[in-house]
Amino acid sequence: MSTSLLYHTQCIRNYQYESSEYGDSEVIWNIRRKSFCCDKCGYPGASISVSGERLIKGEKIGNKHFFLRVPVHRIYCSECKNITTEQLPFLSSLKAKISTVAMDMSKTYISWVEENLPNAQKVFDHFHLIKLMNDKLDKIRRRTVKELDEEQKALLKNQRFLFLRNVEDLEADAKQLLDNLRKVFKELGDASMMKEALRSIYHMAGNNFQAETAFKNWCSIARQTEIKELIDMAKTIENNLEGITAYWKTNALSNAGMEGFNNKVRWLIRQPYGFRDKDYFILKIYNLPNTKIEAAI
Ligand SMILES: [Zn+2]
Repeated sequence: MSTSLLYHTQCIRNYQYESSEYGDSEVIWNIRRKSFCCDKCGYPGASISVSGERLIKGEKIGNKHFFLRVPVHRIYCSECKNITTEQLPFLSSLKAKISTVAMDMSKTYISWVEENLPNAQKVFDHFHLIKLMNDKLDKIRRRTVKELDEEQKALLKNQRFLFLRNVEDLEADAKQLLDNLRKVFKELGDASMMKEALRSIYHMAGNNFQAETAFKNWCSIARQTEIKELIDMAKTIENNLEGITAYWKTNALSNAGMEGFNNKVRWLIRQPYGFRDKDYFILKIYNLPNTKIEAAI
């Protein structure tokens, strides 16, 4: 391994290769900036202190994921008294290689990606779309319950999950009950069917054109119901249609894998002995793909 390999495989200059760590599915290189000078006046004798570190995903090497671990420094200039935090210039060249981003439809994510990765294709995660629909459905359920008399309220009591659960996961008697409630509470029934219709687009549409047509149909039916929450959902879908249907262009890309991994990290943090030793904790995180969550570590 050498510093020139850093340049030739990852396009990174002015950083020094220091050491490697190997996992079953990943390689980590520790690298460090070669020299420091003041950003403001160019004085080459600036003093530095480590203020943190970044773990950056690089280009895959063979079948192994590749990460760079870089200490980030505070740079103090004794000439002009300027204090800055080290910038990592190669992040922009890595960013340029990101072509697709899987995400939910929150405004914060969207504006971050548009600002930082203007050429990347946004793919809105289908789990989030369905979750959003479930939230609307639950809102309708709560609104419906409020308007009912006591006798009708009793019918809907404790049936929240009946409406939210995927219909194919229901036992036969639960399915029958759902059908009956859908008839009694029409708005809620319509919304519940619309949720199933939305889910079925993901199972049925073979490509992004079919999906686009199906979503547009869905939105048009949603408007005809005149149910406020469904009309809101239709607006969200129409405003984000390109990112939603990009799911079909990107081979059903979703960030479910990453979310699952984040959940595993949370599980790791909850383990009783804690992680006072940061390096040990990071090693445990790298080992998570090989860790059985059921078994104690
Ligand atoms: Zn200076």
